Amino acid sequence: MQQRLGRFEILKRLGQGAMGEVFLGLDPAIGREVALKTIHREAAQGAEARERFAREARAAGTLSHPNLVTIHEFGEDQGVLYLAMEFVPGVDLEAMLRDRVLAPVEALEVLAQVCDGLAYAHQKGVLHRDIKPSNIRVRREGDRLHAKVMDFGIARVAGSDMTGTGTLLGTFGYMAPEYIKTGTPDPRSDLFAVGVMLYEALAGRRPFEGDTTATILYRLVNEEPSPLAAGDLRGLSPQVGQLLAKALAKDPAQRFQSGEAMARALRDATDPAWAGMPGTQPTRTLPRASAPPVAAALGRKPRNPWPWIAVATTLLAGGVGTWAWLNQAKAPRLITLPAPATSIPDPSVSTPEATKPEPRGGAPAPKATPGTNSRVKVPPRLSELEVADLLNEAARGMVDQPQGSLAQCDRVLREHPTNSRAYALKAVALYGLGRYQEMPGVLAAGREQGVRPIQLLAFSSFQAMLREERRERRLPLEVRESLAAELPVGTMRPGQGAWPGRVQRD
Ligand code: ADP
Ligand code: MG
Repeated sequence: MQQRLGRFEILKRLGQGAMGEVFLGLDPAIGREVALKTIHREAAQGAEARERFAREARAAGTLSHPNLVTIHEFGEDQGVLYLAMEFVPGVDLEAMLRDRVLAPVEALEVLAQVCDGLAYAHQKGVLHRDIKPSNIRVRREGDRLHAKVMDFGIARVAGSDMTGTGTLLGTFGYMAPEYIKTGTPDPRSDLFAVGVMLYEALAGRRPFEGDTTATILYRLVNEEPSPLAAGDLRGLSPQVGQLLAKALAKDPAQRFQSGEAMARALRDATDPAWAGMPGTQPTRTLPRASAPPVAAALGRKPRNPWPWIAVATTLLAGGVGTWAWLNQAKAPRLITLPAPATSIPDPSVSTPEATKPEPRGGAPAPKATPGTNSRVKVPPRLSELEVADLLNEAARGMVDQPQGSLAQCDRVLREHPTNSRAYALKAVALYGLGRYQEMPGVLAAGREQGVRPIQLLAFSSFQAMLREERRERRLPLEVRESLAAELPVGTMRPGQGAWPGRVQRD
């Protein structure tokens, strides 16, 4: 271990984060303890990456608020980039939630403090982008709790997430639907993550869980979490259900619009007698988009049960190339869920319009509006099941026959140019063939058809390829940078995730 970083003496190692190690340091000039967060050399490669990192560190460095960890300085020592920041004794909220040590009232106060800090940062034009329990540090001071938000803006510059599958899943669990769909967060996206933490704190589980990235993404975008049990709200206002529905609304316009408003509501809700949401009439019902948890709490049926059925069918019974709609009303998109190898095909889902297959489960799917998609004018020759078969074969052949896999993907894409799985597998095949220069073109072609690169991340073979690349770094720099620009921040960064071997299933 290095003895110093810049002028700081290293006292001990505090922990390992996704983007580097964190040390307890000492500023000998003033005897102050600091936390020194080092950044992987690889995560900060190149002048541009360094400049971006410095810029973000400067933005975070302008923030000074009791609920935000203060950044003291950004430095470099023998090629190691580091941030010197306030050392915060205490524990991560992640550990507190895991051990369920917070009473509901305490959880609301901690999250209200997080909102206080966010409100301040947002006013200064700084987004966090990676609000999650492991980025909140909590200290007990007597019978009071003090929360501080760590890692402001860092996700964007150094890809503190998404470096290993576990972290990727964890991080996705707090991502706002609009962030997933557009790649552009705003202050309300940070507040959505606070809503996820509120649910987690009260229910003891995350609202949007899943074994795969696809499932989590799908649920974040489409599904309402299951309602809280009455016991989860002990000591709180019964309005917490409504507060939660507002915090987790899919449409940012239906959410709390500022950290202040959310902090106020959280503190109000610690009073069991509180009966209203600030800024709303107590009798007002929430818009449909945000209503289901409340509705569910009242015993009503959720708004749209079929996506759930589609996911459940896929996961439990298995499905061949099962499709489901990302059914956000204004921008319907397709996401292919991971397809286990065996399943009983359900003839009811076969549709001549294979680019828009219906979900399983017999529930009605949205009808395509005639004329909205010129591709559907010519009925495709490959049926949905044939497409799925071809792509399953492509996935299976990826190691031994990448050339064949490539041909199968191209065959599918000729007729089904919106098939995200085909793009994902095509990129993997090109990688296997060493045809790296063609990979950015695959992402670009998909994007032209409305397939966002983040959708490709839903496929385990694509993720596996990225993990392999992070480990082996075969891509030429310009290709790597081109892909990095298309994919969520951090996806291409080196990580600690062990490479489990090529994944042939996706
Ligand atoms: P992650 O990538 O999971 O967010 P970090 O790199 O932020 O992890 O942090 C790694 C470890 O160092 C964590 O256990 C965290 O609690 C600890 N740590 C990070 N920043 C500070 C700080 N300012 N004060 C005290 N401990 C810290
Ligand atoms: Mg962190």
